[in-house]
Amino acid sequence: MKNIDKTKPVLVTGATGYVAGWIIKKLMDDGLTVHATVRNPNDEQKLEHLVKMANQSNGGIKFFKADLLNNGSFAEAMQGCELVFHTASPFMTEVKDAQKELIEPAVLGTENVLNAAMQCESVKRVVLTSSCAAIYTDCIDTENATNGEITEENWNTNASLTYQPYSYSKTLAEKKAWEIAASQSKWDLVVINPSMVFGPATNPKTATSESLSLLKQMGDGSFSPGVPNIGVGIIDVRDLATAHINAGFIPSASGRNIISGHNSSFLEAAQILNNEFGKQYKIPKKALPKWLLMLIGPMVNKVITRKFVQNNVNKTWKANNTKSIRELNMQYRPLKETMVDSFESLIANKLIEKGKRK
Ligand code: NAP
Repeated sequence: MKNIDKTKPVLVTGATGYVAGWIIKKLMDDGLTVHATVRNPNDEQKLEHLVKMANQSNGGIKFFKADLLNNGSFAEAMQGCELVFHTASPFMTEVKDAQKELIEPAVLGTENVLNAAMQCESVKRVVLTSSCAAIYTDCIDTENATNGEITEENWNTNASLTYQPYSYSKTLAEKKAWEIAASQSKWDLVVINPSMVFGPATNPKTATSESLSLLKQMGDGSFSPGVPNIGVGIIDVRDLATAHINAGFIPSASGRNIISGHNSSFLEAAQILNNEFGKQYKIPKKALPKWLLMLIGPMVNKVITRKFVQNNVNKTWKANNTKSIRELNMQYRPLKETMVDSFESLIANKLIEKGKRK
């Protein structure tokens, strides 16, 4: 049970990220001072939204330079912080060298941040942004789980360096975090396991997250022939920020926590967008047949292998989110609100155009 003093600064790693943006906003609106680590504090364009949010809030922000691959680089930012939110980790599905681009920053980064926490007098709690990807690899894993749903008890056992390497990076990083946490008793670890994050970004123009690439593709015609009917859990980025903050400040918060508002599918998400925006934007209207994906998937996108199609297409996705409701006081907003707000944000920021491919 850790009580966190809100007058002390709070560290957020990966501050320029899609997920971190809303966490930082909520912290500053609540009057806290955020120590924000970024790889390049001189990149004004990437920090602009955070500076603006700080100016409009009751709190403040201070930027620190830190790289996940650079041992010791988080120490200065952590000084005086009781609470650390470690969100930084690359989220991309298409990579040339999975070891270098995904595994090393995820695992070494977690080691570097947690080793800094071991050496920093003030730290009492670390909240790690892991993922449901550390729980399952393919939809078929959720169908095969007890009662057909994944829980915090499950671990991803099927991802590898060559198959779904992002999921592998999140699994290895979370395991490393639990190993380091168990070796000491100065701070406790609370893990957040979000499903696919959608919702409006605080930084729509500079965000690198795969979530935003997917959202754009839903409206720019990339999927106009149809969307693969793949089950997916969806969480709103604003609800996810609340989950992080509750995980940080509720003294009894503990363990892994699945944060997922809706057991859904890409087809359902597309149908919601279609009902609202389908007349003006090229949103997918139907599901792509599985046989077609088996045939052309590997040629169109190297992630869509036959194994991937077999294990995901026309499969449901189900997770049990009751721990988050019971222990982190989560209330999840309707899926329609998430999808509509996401798309309106893309339109407002001119990131998709009516009826055109981009
Ligand atoms: P994002 O917008 O791409 O944010 C990733 C952040 O990691 C960026 O701030 C990036 O900083 C930082 N980063 C990457 N490599 C780094 C390095 N070598 N050193 C320091 N910082 C580095 O992605 P996101 O969607 O917000 O993801 C944030 C976290 O949520 C990740 O841990 C991700 O695995 C997790 N998550 C995301 C989803 C989702 O659907 N989006 C779902 C589950 C879990 P730069 O600005 O310097 O590049």
